[in-house]
Amino acid sequence: MDKYSNIPRVQDYNGVYLLDTVHMGNSGTVGVYLLTAKDNSDNFAIIETGPESTLGNLKDAIFEAGFKLENLSHILVTHIHLDHAGAAGALAAETGAKVYVHEIGYKHMHDPSRLVASARRIYQEKMDVLWGDMQAIPNQQLEAVNDDDVLEILGHKIKVLYTPGHARHHVSYLIEDGSIFTGDSAAIKFAGSSIIRPAFPPPELDLDIWPVTIAKMLEQNPTRLFLTHFGEVKDAKGHLQALQTRHDKWANTVLDALKAKKESPEIINIMTSLGEDELNNDKAPASVFFRHSITSDYAMTVMALSRYWQKFHPEKI
Ligand SMILES: [Zn+2]
Repeated sequence: MDKYSNIPRVQDYNGVYLLDTVHMGNSGTVGVYLLTAKDNSDNFAIIETGPESTLGNLKDAIFEAGFKLENLSHILVTHIHLDHAGAAGALAAETGAKVYVHEIGYKHMHDPSRLVASARRIYQEKMDVLWGDMQAIPNQQLEAVNDDDVLEILGHKIKVLYTPGHARHHVSYLIEDGSIFTGDSAAIKFAGSSIIRPAFPPPELDLDIWPVTIAKMLEQNPTRLFLTHFGEVKDAKGHLQALQTRHDKWANTVLDALKAKKESPEIINIMTSLGEDELNNDKAPASVFFRHSITSDYAMTVMALSRYWQKFHPEKI
């Protein structure tokens, strides 16, 4: 236990609430943001939903923040991965809320069977306890969004930023005060440590497009970032400017190992040493090591980066 171990279940950032899904009993790891109405209604919106396995925790947090679930009217997801959008279908069915997702992700929210089947292949018997299921969302409750769309929601004007890299269908959301809800497009960072940790999952990782995403977010002159993993970043520009260096460092480590004809188990060892040394040098508390061990698995990172280099840049290997 350290002073960062216990994160409050609800944190208030001036009209934006950060709700903790307490995924697998772990606080401060997978967040959901609640946006209050500016139009004097009792309705509210959420950005991200967490997985279906933590739906009960999310409902508790909504209640604790002082809202009624039945007033949930809009659900915006940054992408369709289970830790971000898994509970969207269940919430949409229960509340009638409208769900916003990038057009490429739309069909998987309408019919999540392929998405769920592929997750089951990866997580096998752990699937239910880790993520739960994902419910289909009828077309009339689904809205496809695109780059530069401005959504008029509860008196807010929310700008959609297409931010691929982590996934092809990833978007981020900019609100009037300059806050960007970044999903995984600005990586992962936990309270108690300065380390920005890349979020590199297979199979869609694209490091050629990600610099465009970073530039796009910087162009908005953001005042703060809200990371899904986890919380507010006050120095938005500093964080975004550091992101490319962090990406390069991790990506080049795997590239060098591939060039040296190393096999996957050895590359995973190299990546693990790098990641753990970074946290040790940063004097990160135990809670930060633990949270990173959940959100960025070294084996998956190596799989994603190996696939990226082999697919996009075989000439460099
Ligand atoms: Zn994520």
